[in-house]
Amino acid sequence: MFNKILIANRGEIACRVAATCKRLGIASVGVYSDADANAKHVAACDEAVHIGGATAAESYLRFERIIAAARATGAQAVHPGYGFLSENEDFAQACAAAGIAFIGPPVEAIAAMGSKAAAKALMHAAAVPLVPGYHGDDQDAKLLLREADAIGYPVLLKASAGGGGKGMRVVERSEDFAAALASCKREAASSFGNDRVLIEKYLTRPRHVEVQVFADQQGGTVYLFDRDCSVQRRHQKVLEEAPAPGLTAELRRAMGEAAVAAARAVNYVGAGTVEFIMTGASNFYFMEMNTRLQVEHPVTEMVTGLDLVEWQLRVASGEPLPLTQTQLKLEGHAIEARIYAEHPARGFLPSTGTLKHLRMPEGVEFTVGSPGVPGSRAAVRIDSGVREGDTITPFYDPMIAKLIVHGATRAEALARMSRALRACEVVGPYTNVEFLQRIVNSEPFSSGDLDTGLIERHHAALFAPVKKPFREAVALACAALLTREGGTAHGASPWDALSHWRLNGGYTQTLAWRDVEDESAFAVTFARDGGVQTLEHDSQRDGFTWWSGTGAHEFGATIGDSHVTGRVFVDGDVFHVFCLGEALAFEWQNLLAHAADAEHGEGRLTAPMPGKVIAVLVEPGTVVEKGTPLIVMEAMKMEHTIGAPAAGTVSEVLYSVGDQVADGAQLLVLDVG
Ligand code: ADP
Repeated sequence: MFNKILIANRGEIACRVAATCKRLGIASVGVYSDADANAKHVAACDEAVHIGGATAAESYLRFERIIAAARATGAQAVHPGYGFLSENEDFAQACAAAGIAFIGPPVEAIAAMGSKAAAKALMHAAAVPLVPGYHGDDQDAKLLLREADAIGYPVLLKASAGGGGKGMRVVERSEDFAAALASCKREAASSFGNDRVLIEKYLTRPRHVEVQVFADQQGGTVYLFDRDCSVQRRHQKVLEEAPAPGLTAELRRAMGEAAVAAARAVNYVGAGTVEFIMTGASNFYFMEMNTRLQVEHPVTEMVTGLDLVEWQLRVASGEPLPLTQTQLKLEGHAIEARIYAEHPARGFLPSTGTLKHLRMPEGVEFTVGSPGVPGSRAAVRIDSGVREGDTITPFYDPMIAKLIVHGATRAEALARMSRALRACEVVGPYTNVEFLQRIVNSEPFSSGDLDTGLIERHHAALFAPVKKPFREAVALACAALLTREGGTAHGASPWDALSHWRLNGGYTQTLAWRDVEDESAFAVTFARDGGVQTLEHDSQRDGFTWWSGTGAHEFGATIGDSHVTGRVFVDGDVFHVFCLGEALAFEWQNLLAHAADAEHGEGRLTAPMPGKVIAVLVEPGTVVEKGTPLIVMEAMKMEHTIGAPAAGTVSEVLYSVGDQVADGAQLLVLDVG
């Protein structure tokens, strides 16, 4: 076994690999970019080496730097994680040339699976079932059309060198084929530098079912069962589970054996995933093989009780596979949800920003079994590469955490996932937590009726407005505000910042709020008369008491006859309330402070989304009219011009061309008037 390895990655997967190293007593070396100097993965490793600038091209993709770091620290092997250099045959080659073990398959296996067309030819020879189609060398347009006609429409055109869902075109009719072919070739050439295409029968309502395989250097190859990853958005996985629901024992074995045959056909070594597309109850076809550890490997770990990173390290150091096929057992059911910083309602646009408040459900980190209980499974596992206070930047994948649950049955795992998601609290970037909750609780997902079109087909239901516990959340927000402003639940208080009137020994205060989600303004009247407190909203007056709990941000309240406890995280004047499994946010309209701002005549100008400044059109001293363009930003390949909200004089410009700015960052200061 190795004594020391370098982890050529960042985020949760780097932390994940470091956790296994720690458990096995292997020293770990991390690498980091300028943006990651204080990242969690740097702290998780025993030592870490700076390798360059913030963008991946300047750091995590620079393999000469990574190999130099391995050499300098005496690391005997490199674990590439997933993404970045994990499937780069040149990197694997460079490691070998430097005498450093690459914890992954042989260079030839990476190369063989790198081209979809070549991989299909190999799989055909190994008798692995393929989607009916054409993957030949002859790329003559007339021949391709004849092949498509013979397959029968709809067909799917794929870039042979493609990946990440790019370079794919569905063609419905023979008449549309020529135009789709030309556009597919153009995209393939520009994205992958290779315009070769293949044609497949386009399957309707397919499932994505993949098989985890493992092979050692002695020729042993096993499968560690299957995962269903059908729930996808933009061809990216959102929820994954193991085992795939509804497979018979015979089908499971047939798919496992087909995956082993696929791995053997390329003399595979290490962890790999053979992806199949499935239709009906039992038709499965080879799609591609990923020659690395997958993001979703934890669900396999949960149902097999094994640490796949440990297996990778053992195999790479020359040990045989720890278990044989017959010794491998499936136990229970596991589901993983990927928690992303993104805005589902805005087409899943990535979101960035500081994680001002981050609370995950009770669970273990990165650990397969419950600590100290041999053979047991953790019920809830969290794999995360960030901590509260860290920032999700535009440079890397915006994943916050993977939430993994295990249960004796799928129903138990599902209930546990639902409860765990309700306990996730994130303040800062937008997240998909609520969206995940909706999918998990939806009928098609809970009944196991899975296919790759699930999100699209149920879009309306998944994005329909939900009724949130508004009254209870407002009560908690008022409790937090009254506490902050000096009130206690029982005693009199100065109420300095709140306008109020005294009436016969009692008093009344109006608290003005704005609901952050729908931007609506509303007011709540708090009154205390003798020992009786009430809150009035929308002409409904309820008895109101509140208390603050022992834990951070904990509050409780009774409002009318409902009793609620929850957490309120206060960020400036925004009160983020987490109660009854929902997140709500209200901004306190501090009327006194607003009046003061207006007097000082300051106009605040903030970035409407994270992005890059591409033009600054004014400088300090520029006199502007209302609507004068001030700064142009670019985000997601779209330009946005920020105009002056009122006439005035620019007093400060806070960013320059080329700067990355976070959502909500103030861009410049305008003296209004
Ligand atoms: P990429 O390498 O770009 O991820 P894949 O070949 O793995 O491309 O396919 C990505 C996704 O596209 C699959 O998970 C599946 O949802 C869909 N897909 C692929 N092939 C077919 C097909 N023949 N019919 C229907 N859907 C398909």
